[in-house]
Amino acid sequence: MDLNTGLTQALSDRTNNYIYGLDRIAQMNTATEYFLGDALGSVRQITNTTGAITYASAYDPYGVVASTSGSSQTSYGYTNEYTSQGLIYLRSRVYFPESGRFTTKDTWEGDVNYPLSLNKWNYVEGNPINFVDPKGRSSVSLNFGTYEDDYDDKHRSVPHWTNKEAYTVETALGRIAWAYANAYNKEAARRVSEECDPILNAVLLEKIDPFTAFHKVHGGRVTFKWNSFGANGYWGRAISPQKVWFYSNTPKDLLSSYIGQRFVTHEMGHVFENAYSEVYQQYTGTDKEYKPARNLVATNNNLNNRNGFAGVFLDWQWSNDSSSGEIFADMFVGWVFNSWALSPTVPLSDNRYKQQNENYLFGLSKSEFMMEYMPIWIYDTIQHRL
Ligand SMILES: [Zn+2]
Repeated sequence: MDLNTGLTQALSDRTNNYIYGLDRIAQMNTATEYFLGDALGSVRQITNTTGAITYASAYDPYGVVASTSGSSQTSYGYTNEYTSQGLIYLRSRVYFPESGRFTTKDTWEGDVNYPLSLNKWNYVEGNPINFVDPKGRSSVSLNFGTYEDDYDDKHRSVPHWTNKEAYTVETALGRIAWAYANAYNKEAARRVSEECDPILNAVLLEKIDPFTAFHKVHGGRVTFKWNSFGANGYWGRAISPQKVWFYSNTPKDLLSSYIGQRFVTHEMGHVFENAYSEVYQQYTGTDKEYKPARNLVATNNNLNNRNGFAGVFLDWQWSNDSSSGEIFADMFVGWVFNSWALSPTVPLSDNRYKQQNENYLFGLSKSEFMMEYMPIWIYDTIQHRL
C-alpha cells in the first residue's frame, strides 16, 4: 500500500500548478508557496519563498476548520485533501467534517471483530486521532506505521496491504503506544519521587502521550513491508527499530484477523529490543551486539522457558521457539496485553498440580520482570531520543 503515490493527485487546477515530492510540496501561480503539514498531513501553514508564513489554519479532530488567517489561499486542508465549501473530497467518497460522516455509504462491509467498522457512515470508526482515510473507503492508519508493498517483477505478484490488514497492525501499535506511555509516565513519577529538585520534577511530571511515546521509542513510524518472496522458518522479521518485514508464506488471512495483533506485537517485541539496544550502545559506547533483554532472559531460570504464558501457541503468544530472543518477544506480547498464565486453582504446596503451579509461578516471574524492566528501558530510550 503506497499511501502517497497510489492515490490520484491533482497536478493542476484552474488556479494553481502543484509540485509533488513524497507529498504535495508547493503550489504555483504568480508566486511559489510551500505547504507545511502536521502529523495527519493537514495543511497547517503556507510559506512564501522567503519562509514567511502567509497562511495558517487549525482544525478540530474531525477536520472542522477552527480558524484560518493570512493572505494566501489553498484548496487543500484537513489530512491534505481537496476541500471545498466544508466538504472534503476523499476520492470514492465525500466527507463532511461538521457531522463526522461521509455523504454516501461505505463499500467495505466492515469487520465483525471491530464493531465500529460496521457502521458504513462513520469517518475512521470515530477515531480521527489515529486514522485518516485517503481512499474514502475504510480506515487506513498513518500514525504509527507506514505500509509498503514489494512488487515482484519476475512473478508479477505482490502480497499487497489491504485496509483490514493495516487496521490490524495499527490497532496493535496503538496498544503498544499506550503501554509505552503508561510505562514511561510511571517511571517518570517514580524517579520524581526519588528526587528533590523542583525544576527536574516539573519537567519529569509532564506526562507523555501515546503518539509521542511510540515515535520517540522507535525514532518515528515503523515501516511494515509485505515481501513478494517467502522466508524459511518464519513469517515476519524485525529488521531495525523502525522496520518489520512480512513474507509471502505468512498465512493469507492472518493479518486481517484479530489474532494477527499478537503476531504483530511479537514482531514489535523484537523491534523494541532493537530500539533499546541502539540506545544502550550509544549509552555505554561498548559492545554493539549487547541485547539486555535477551541476556537477562537467557540467564534467569524463571524466565528462560516457555512456561507461564497464557493460552497456547498461536493464541496469546506467538513463537514456539525457546531461544531467549523469542521468549522475550512473547513476554512483550504478555506485557502489552497484560495476559499471563491463569492463577492456580489449587494450593501451591500440592505436588499433584506441580506443573500447573509452576506455570503460574513462571507467569508471575515473567510479568514481574516485564513490569520492573520495561518502564526503565522505555524511559531510557525516550530520554535518549528527546
Ligand atoms: Zn520472533
